[in-house]
Amino acid sequence: MARLFDSVRYLKGVGEARAKVFASMGIFTLYDLISYFPRTYEDRTRIVPISELQVDEPACFRAFVTSAPRTNHIRKGLDLTKLSVADDTARLNLTFFNQKYVADNLQYGEEYYFYGTLTGDYLGYGMTNPVFEAVSSPGVRTRRIMPIYPLTAGMSNNLISRSVQQALDACLGELPELLPEPLRAKYDLCDGATAYRQIHAPDSFDLLQRARDRLVFEEFFIFSVGLTMLRSRRAATSRPPLTGLDPAEFERILPFALTGAQKRVISEIRADLESGRVMNRMVQGDVGCGKTAVAACAAWFAVKNGLQAALMAPTEILAEQHARSLEPMLSALGVRTTLLTGSMTPAQKKTARQAIASHQTDLIVGTHALISEATDFSDLGLVIADEQHRFGVAQRAALAEKGKDPHILVMSATPIPRTLAMILYGDLDLSVIDELPPGRQTVQTFLVGEPMRGRINQFIRRQAEEGHQVFIVCPAIEEGETESLKSAEVWAETLQQAVFPDLRVALVHGRMKSAQKDEIMRAFADGSYDILVATTVIEVGVDVPNATLMVVENADRFGLSQLHQLRGRVGRGSAQSYCVLFTSNRNPDTLRRLKALCKNNDGFAISREDLAIRGPGDFFGTRQSGLPVFKVGSLVNDLNTLQNAQTEAAAFLSSEELPKRPEYAPLMERIRALFSEHPAAAAN
Ligand code: ADP
Ligand code: MG
Repeated sequence: MARLFDSVRYLKGVGEARAKVFASMGIFTLYDLISYFPRTYEDRTRIVPISELQVDEPACFRAFVTSAPRTNHIRKGLDLTKLSVADDTARLNLTFFNQKYVADNLQYGEEYYFYGTLTGDYLGYGMTNPVFEAVSSPGVRTRRIMPIYPLTAGMSNNLISRSVQQALDACLGELPELLPEPLRAKYDLCDGATAYRQIHAPDSFDLLQRARDRLVFEEFFIFSVGLTMLRSRRAATSRPPLTGLDPAEFERILPFALTGAQKRVISEIRADLESGRVMNRMVQGDVGCGKTAVAACAAWFAVKNGLQAALMAPTEILAEQHARSLEPMLSALGVRTTLLTGSMTPAQKKTARQAIASHQTDLIVGTHALISEATDFSDLGLVIADEQHRFGVAQRAALAEKGKDPHILVMSATPIPRTLAMILYGDLDLSVIDELPPGRQTVQTFLVGEPMRGRINQFIRRQAEEGHQVFIVCPAIEEGETESLKSAEVWAETLQQAVFPDLRVALVHGRMKSAQKDEIMRAFADGSYDILVATTVIEVGVDVPNATLMVVENADRFGLSQLHQLRGRVGRGSAQSYCVLFTSNRNPDTLRRLKALCKNNDGFAISREDLAIRGPGDFFGTRQSGLPVFKVGSLVNDLNTLQNAQTEAAAFLSSEELPKRPEYAPLMERIRALFSEHPAAAAN
């Protein structure tokens, strides 16, 4: 019998090469493998007569082979094997491409189960590449509910399915029960082993549903208990209260008056800092609402009390931008600011590090390498993380380990409804800046199709001729990554060669080295280019006030929140700005969502709308959000379960004795593994 955390190499048929592919999917151990859940299921349980097969509807049927398979070699790399089958309702022609083994495995006169999709029209019907099994076989690929796994290059559904079954057989006996009986009884949940069996190989849709219910509850319960523990651990950490915090003094150095919302949030931060406990606060606010000023004020509060503050940005560019705008602002208050990024020369870094260690500097701005690297702070009292949607729960936990319990402020421009935020960021107190500075222009947004291409190109040219700059965002980097998507590389080339030979077109994408990326972004910000063709690397925070037009290709491929963020890259200067969304998608739902963006400039309103329609996964784009990625649970469909899990988590933790009981030991161990010892494991 294998152990849960044995390597997948333990399995028959998994050698070094396959283990590598598994590793690329995040699967290292047997436990990882059995926790790799199907994406969807195919109902192959229903057996229909051939005469009742419907075009384009996959189905199972049982039939005799009525003509011996014949293989024709059409050309190099193309063999066709044809045969016909029949039941007592009809006859059907089957064609197999490049599957010569079919000829050996389908015997004339024998009966088989098939599963496939009928194609054809009044001229004739047929079926291509159905799967089949002898009627005497146990039924692995037919007559059952078939799990369909998320795949990657070099990994087939069959291989995963077979490996999972092997792993289940080998280690399920070792699986600790994370939900003790009373809890399962209360919510009518099945035991863990049954759930794992049924989610991978359901005996019926009812049992599948029960398996899902159980695993969703488990997932949410662990998440809730973990977050609550984090929160209470931090809430208990004391720190000497900061004193002399006067927002008015800060506001005097600003070239503008703070908005009411900024003032409110600053006073919430102030209350935290004066409380004698460690601050753990998230500030949420739409693009452009002025989170930087709030962060600057918090930094000044800390510095005024003899502490150092660190501001972490997700990219070097953003870090530089912050340093550039904060330095002059805060120096008026006697705050010394230092930039520390990976692309500085070793000598520059050394000087910066010395200043940090000897407290010759107060505010240190950099990427998150700032705190993970061996940078010694002399008195780090406040860590501010900008654009927190790039950081997951685990990174937040890791943050707290830096310095001697520094105050923590995270800032996020991913607007999500308050109720959801409270659940998901349960370890943080929440502040919302729900007001934009006065006089903000709204970015005029248009949804267009290919027929408008010529006019939009003219529009791009006009912006450039007026001395403005243009962003063009594509969903893919290279051609052919996904069919029919605009690729940044090819599109940049096309625009430069064929459309705007006289304009300066630059390209930036995520696969470039970050130094190269930063250089191009910098050059664009300096006005050295007219057009920047990019992937979503430019999504976060970049400030180019002279950019007035954002064009998004294949806009339907992006989450609304992402589009809203992208749109936030323009409209930062005084000139009227525009956003053009290209789509060829005709799906009414998709169009409705995109139109909502055209009508609406408020990120929170957009998020409410989109969450209601599609759910957070789609809304946030796959990995952008920093929202915990749940394996089975859905933040839309399973909100009830989430609420129950939270109630139970609170009850569990408020009880003195429950967490100490042996039947909860496996659960506590799991939570510790997820939330502290291996922070990477809980990251998205
Ligand atoms: P975000 O919340 O997206 O990080 P920023 O902090 O970058 O937004 O602010 C966007 C712009 O708004 C900056 O140029 C900033 O100087 C300006 N700004 C911030 N607060 C105010 C205010 N109260 N009044 C006017 N302009 C402001
Ligand atoms: Mg910002």
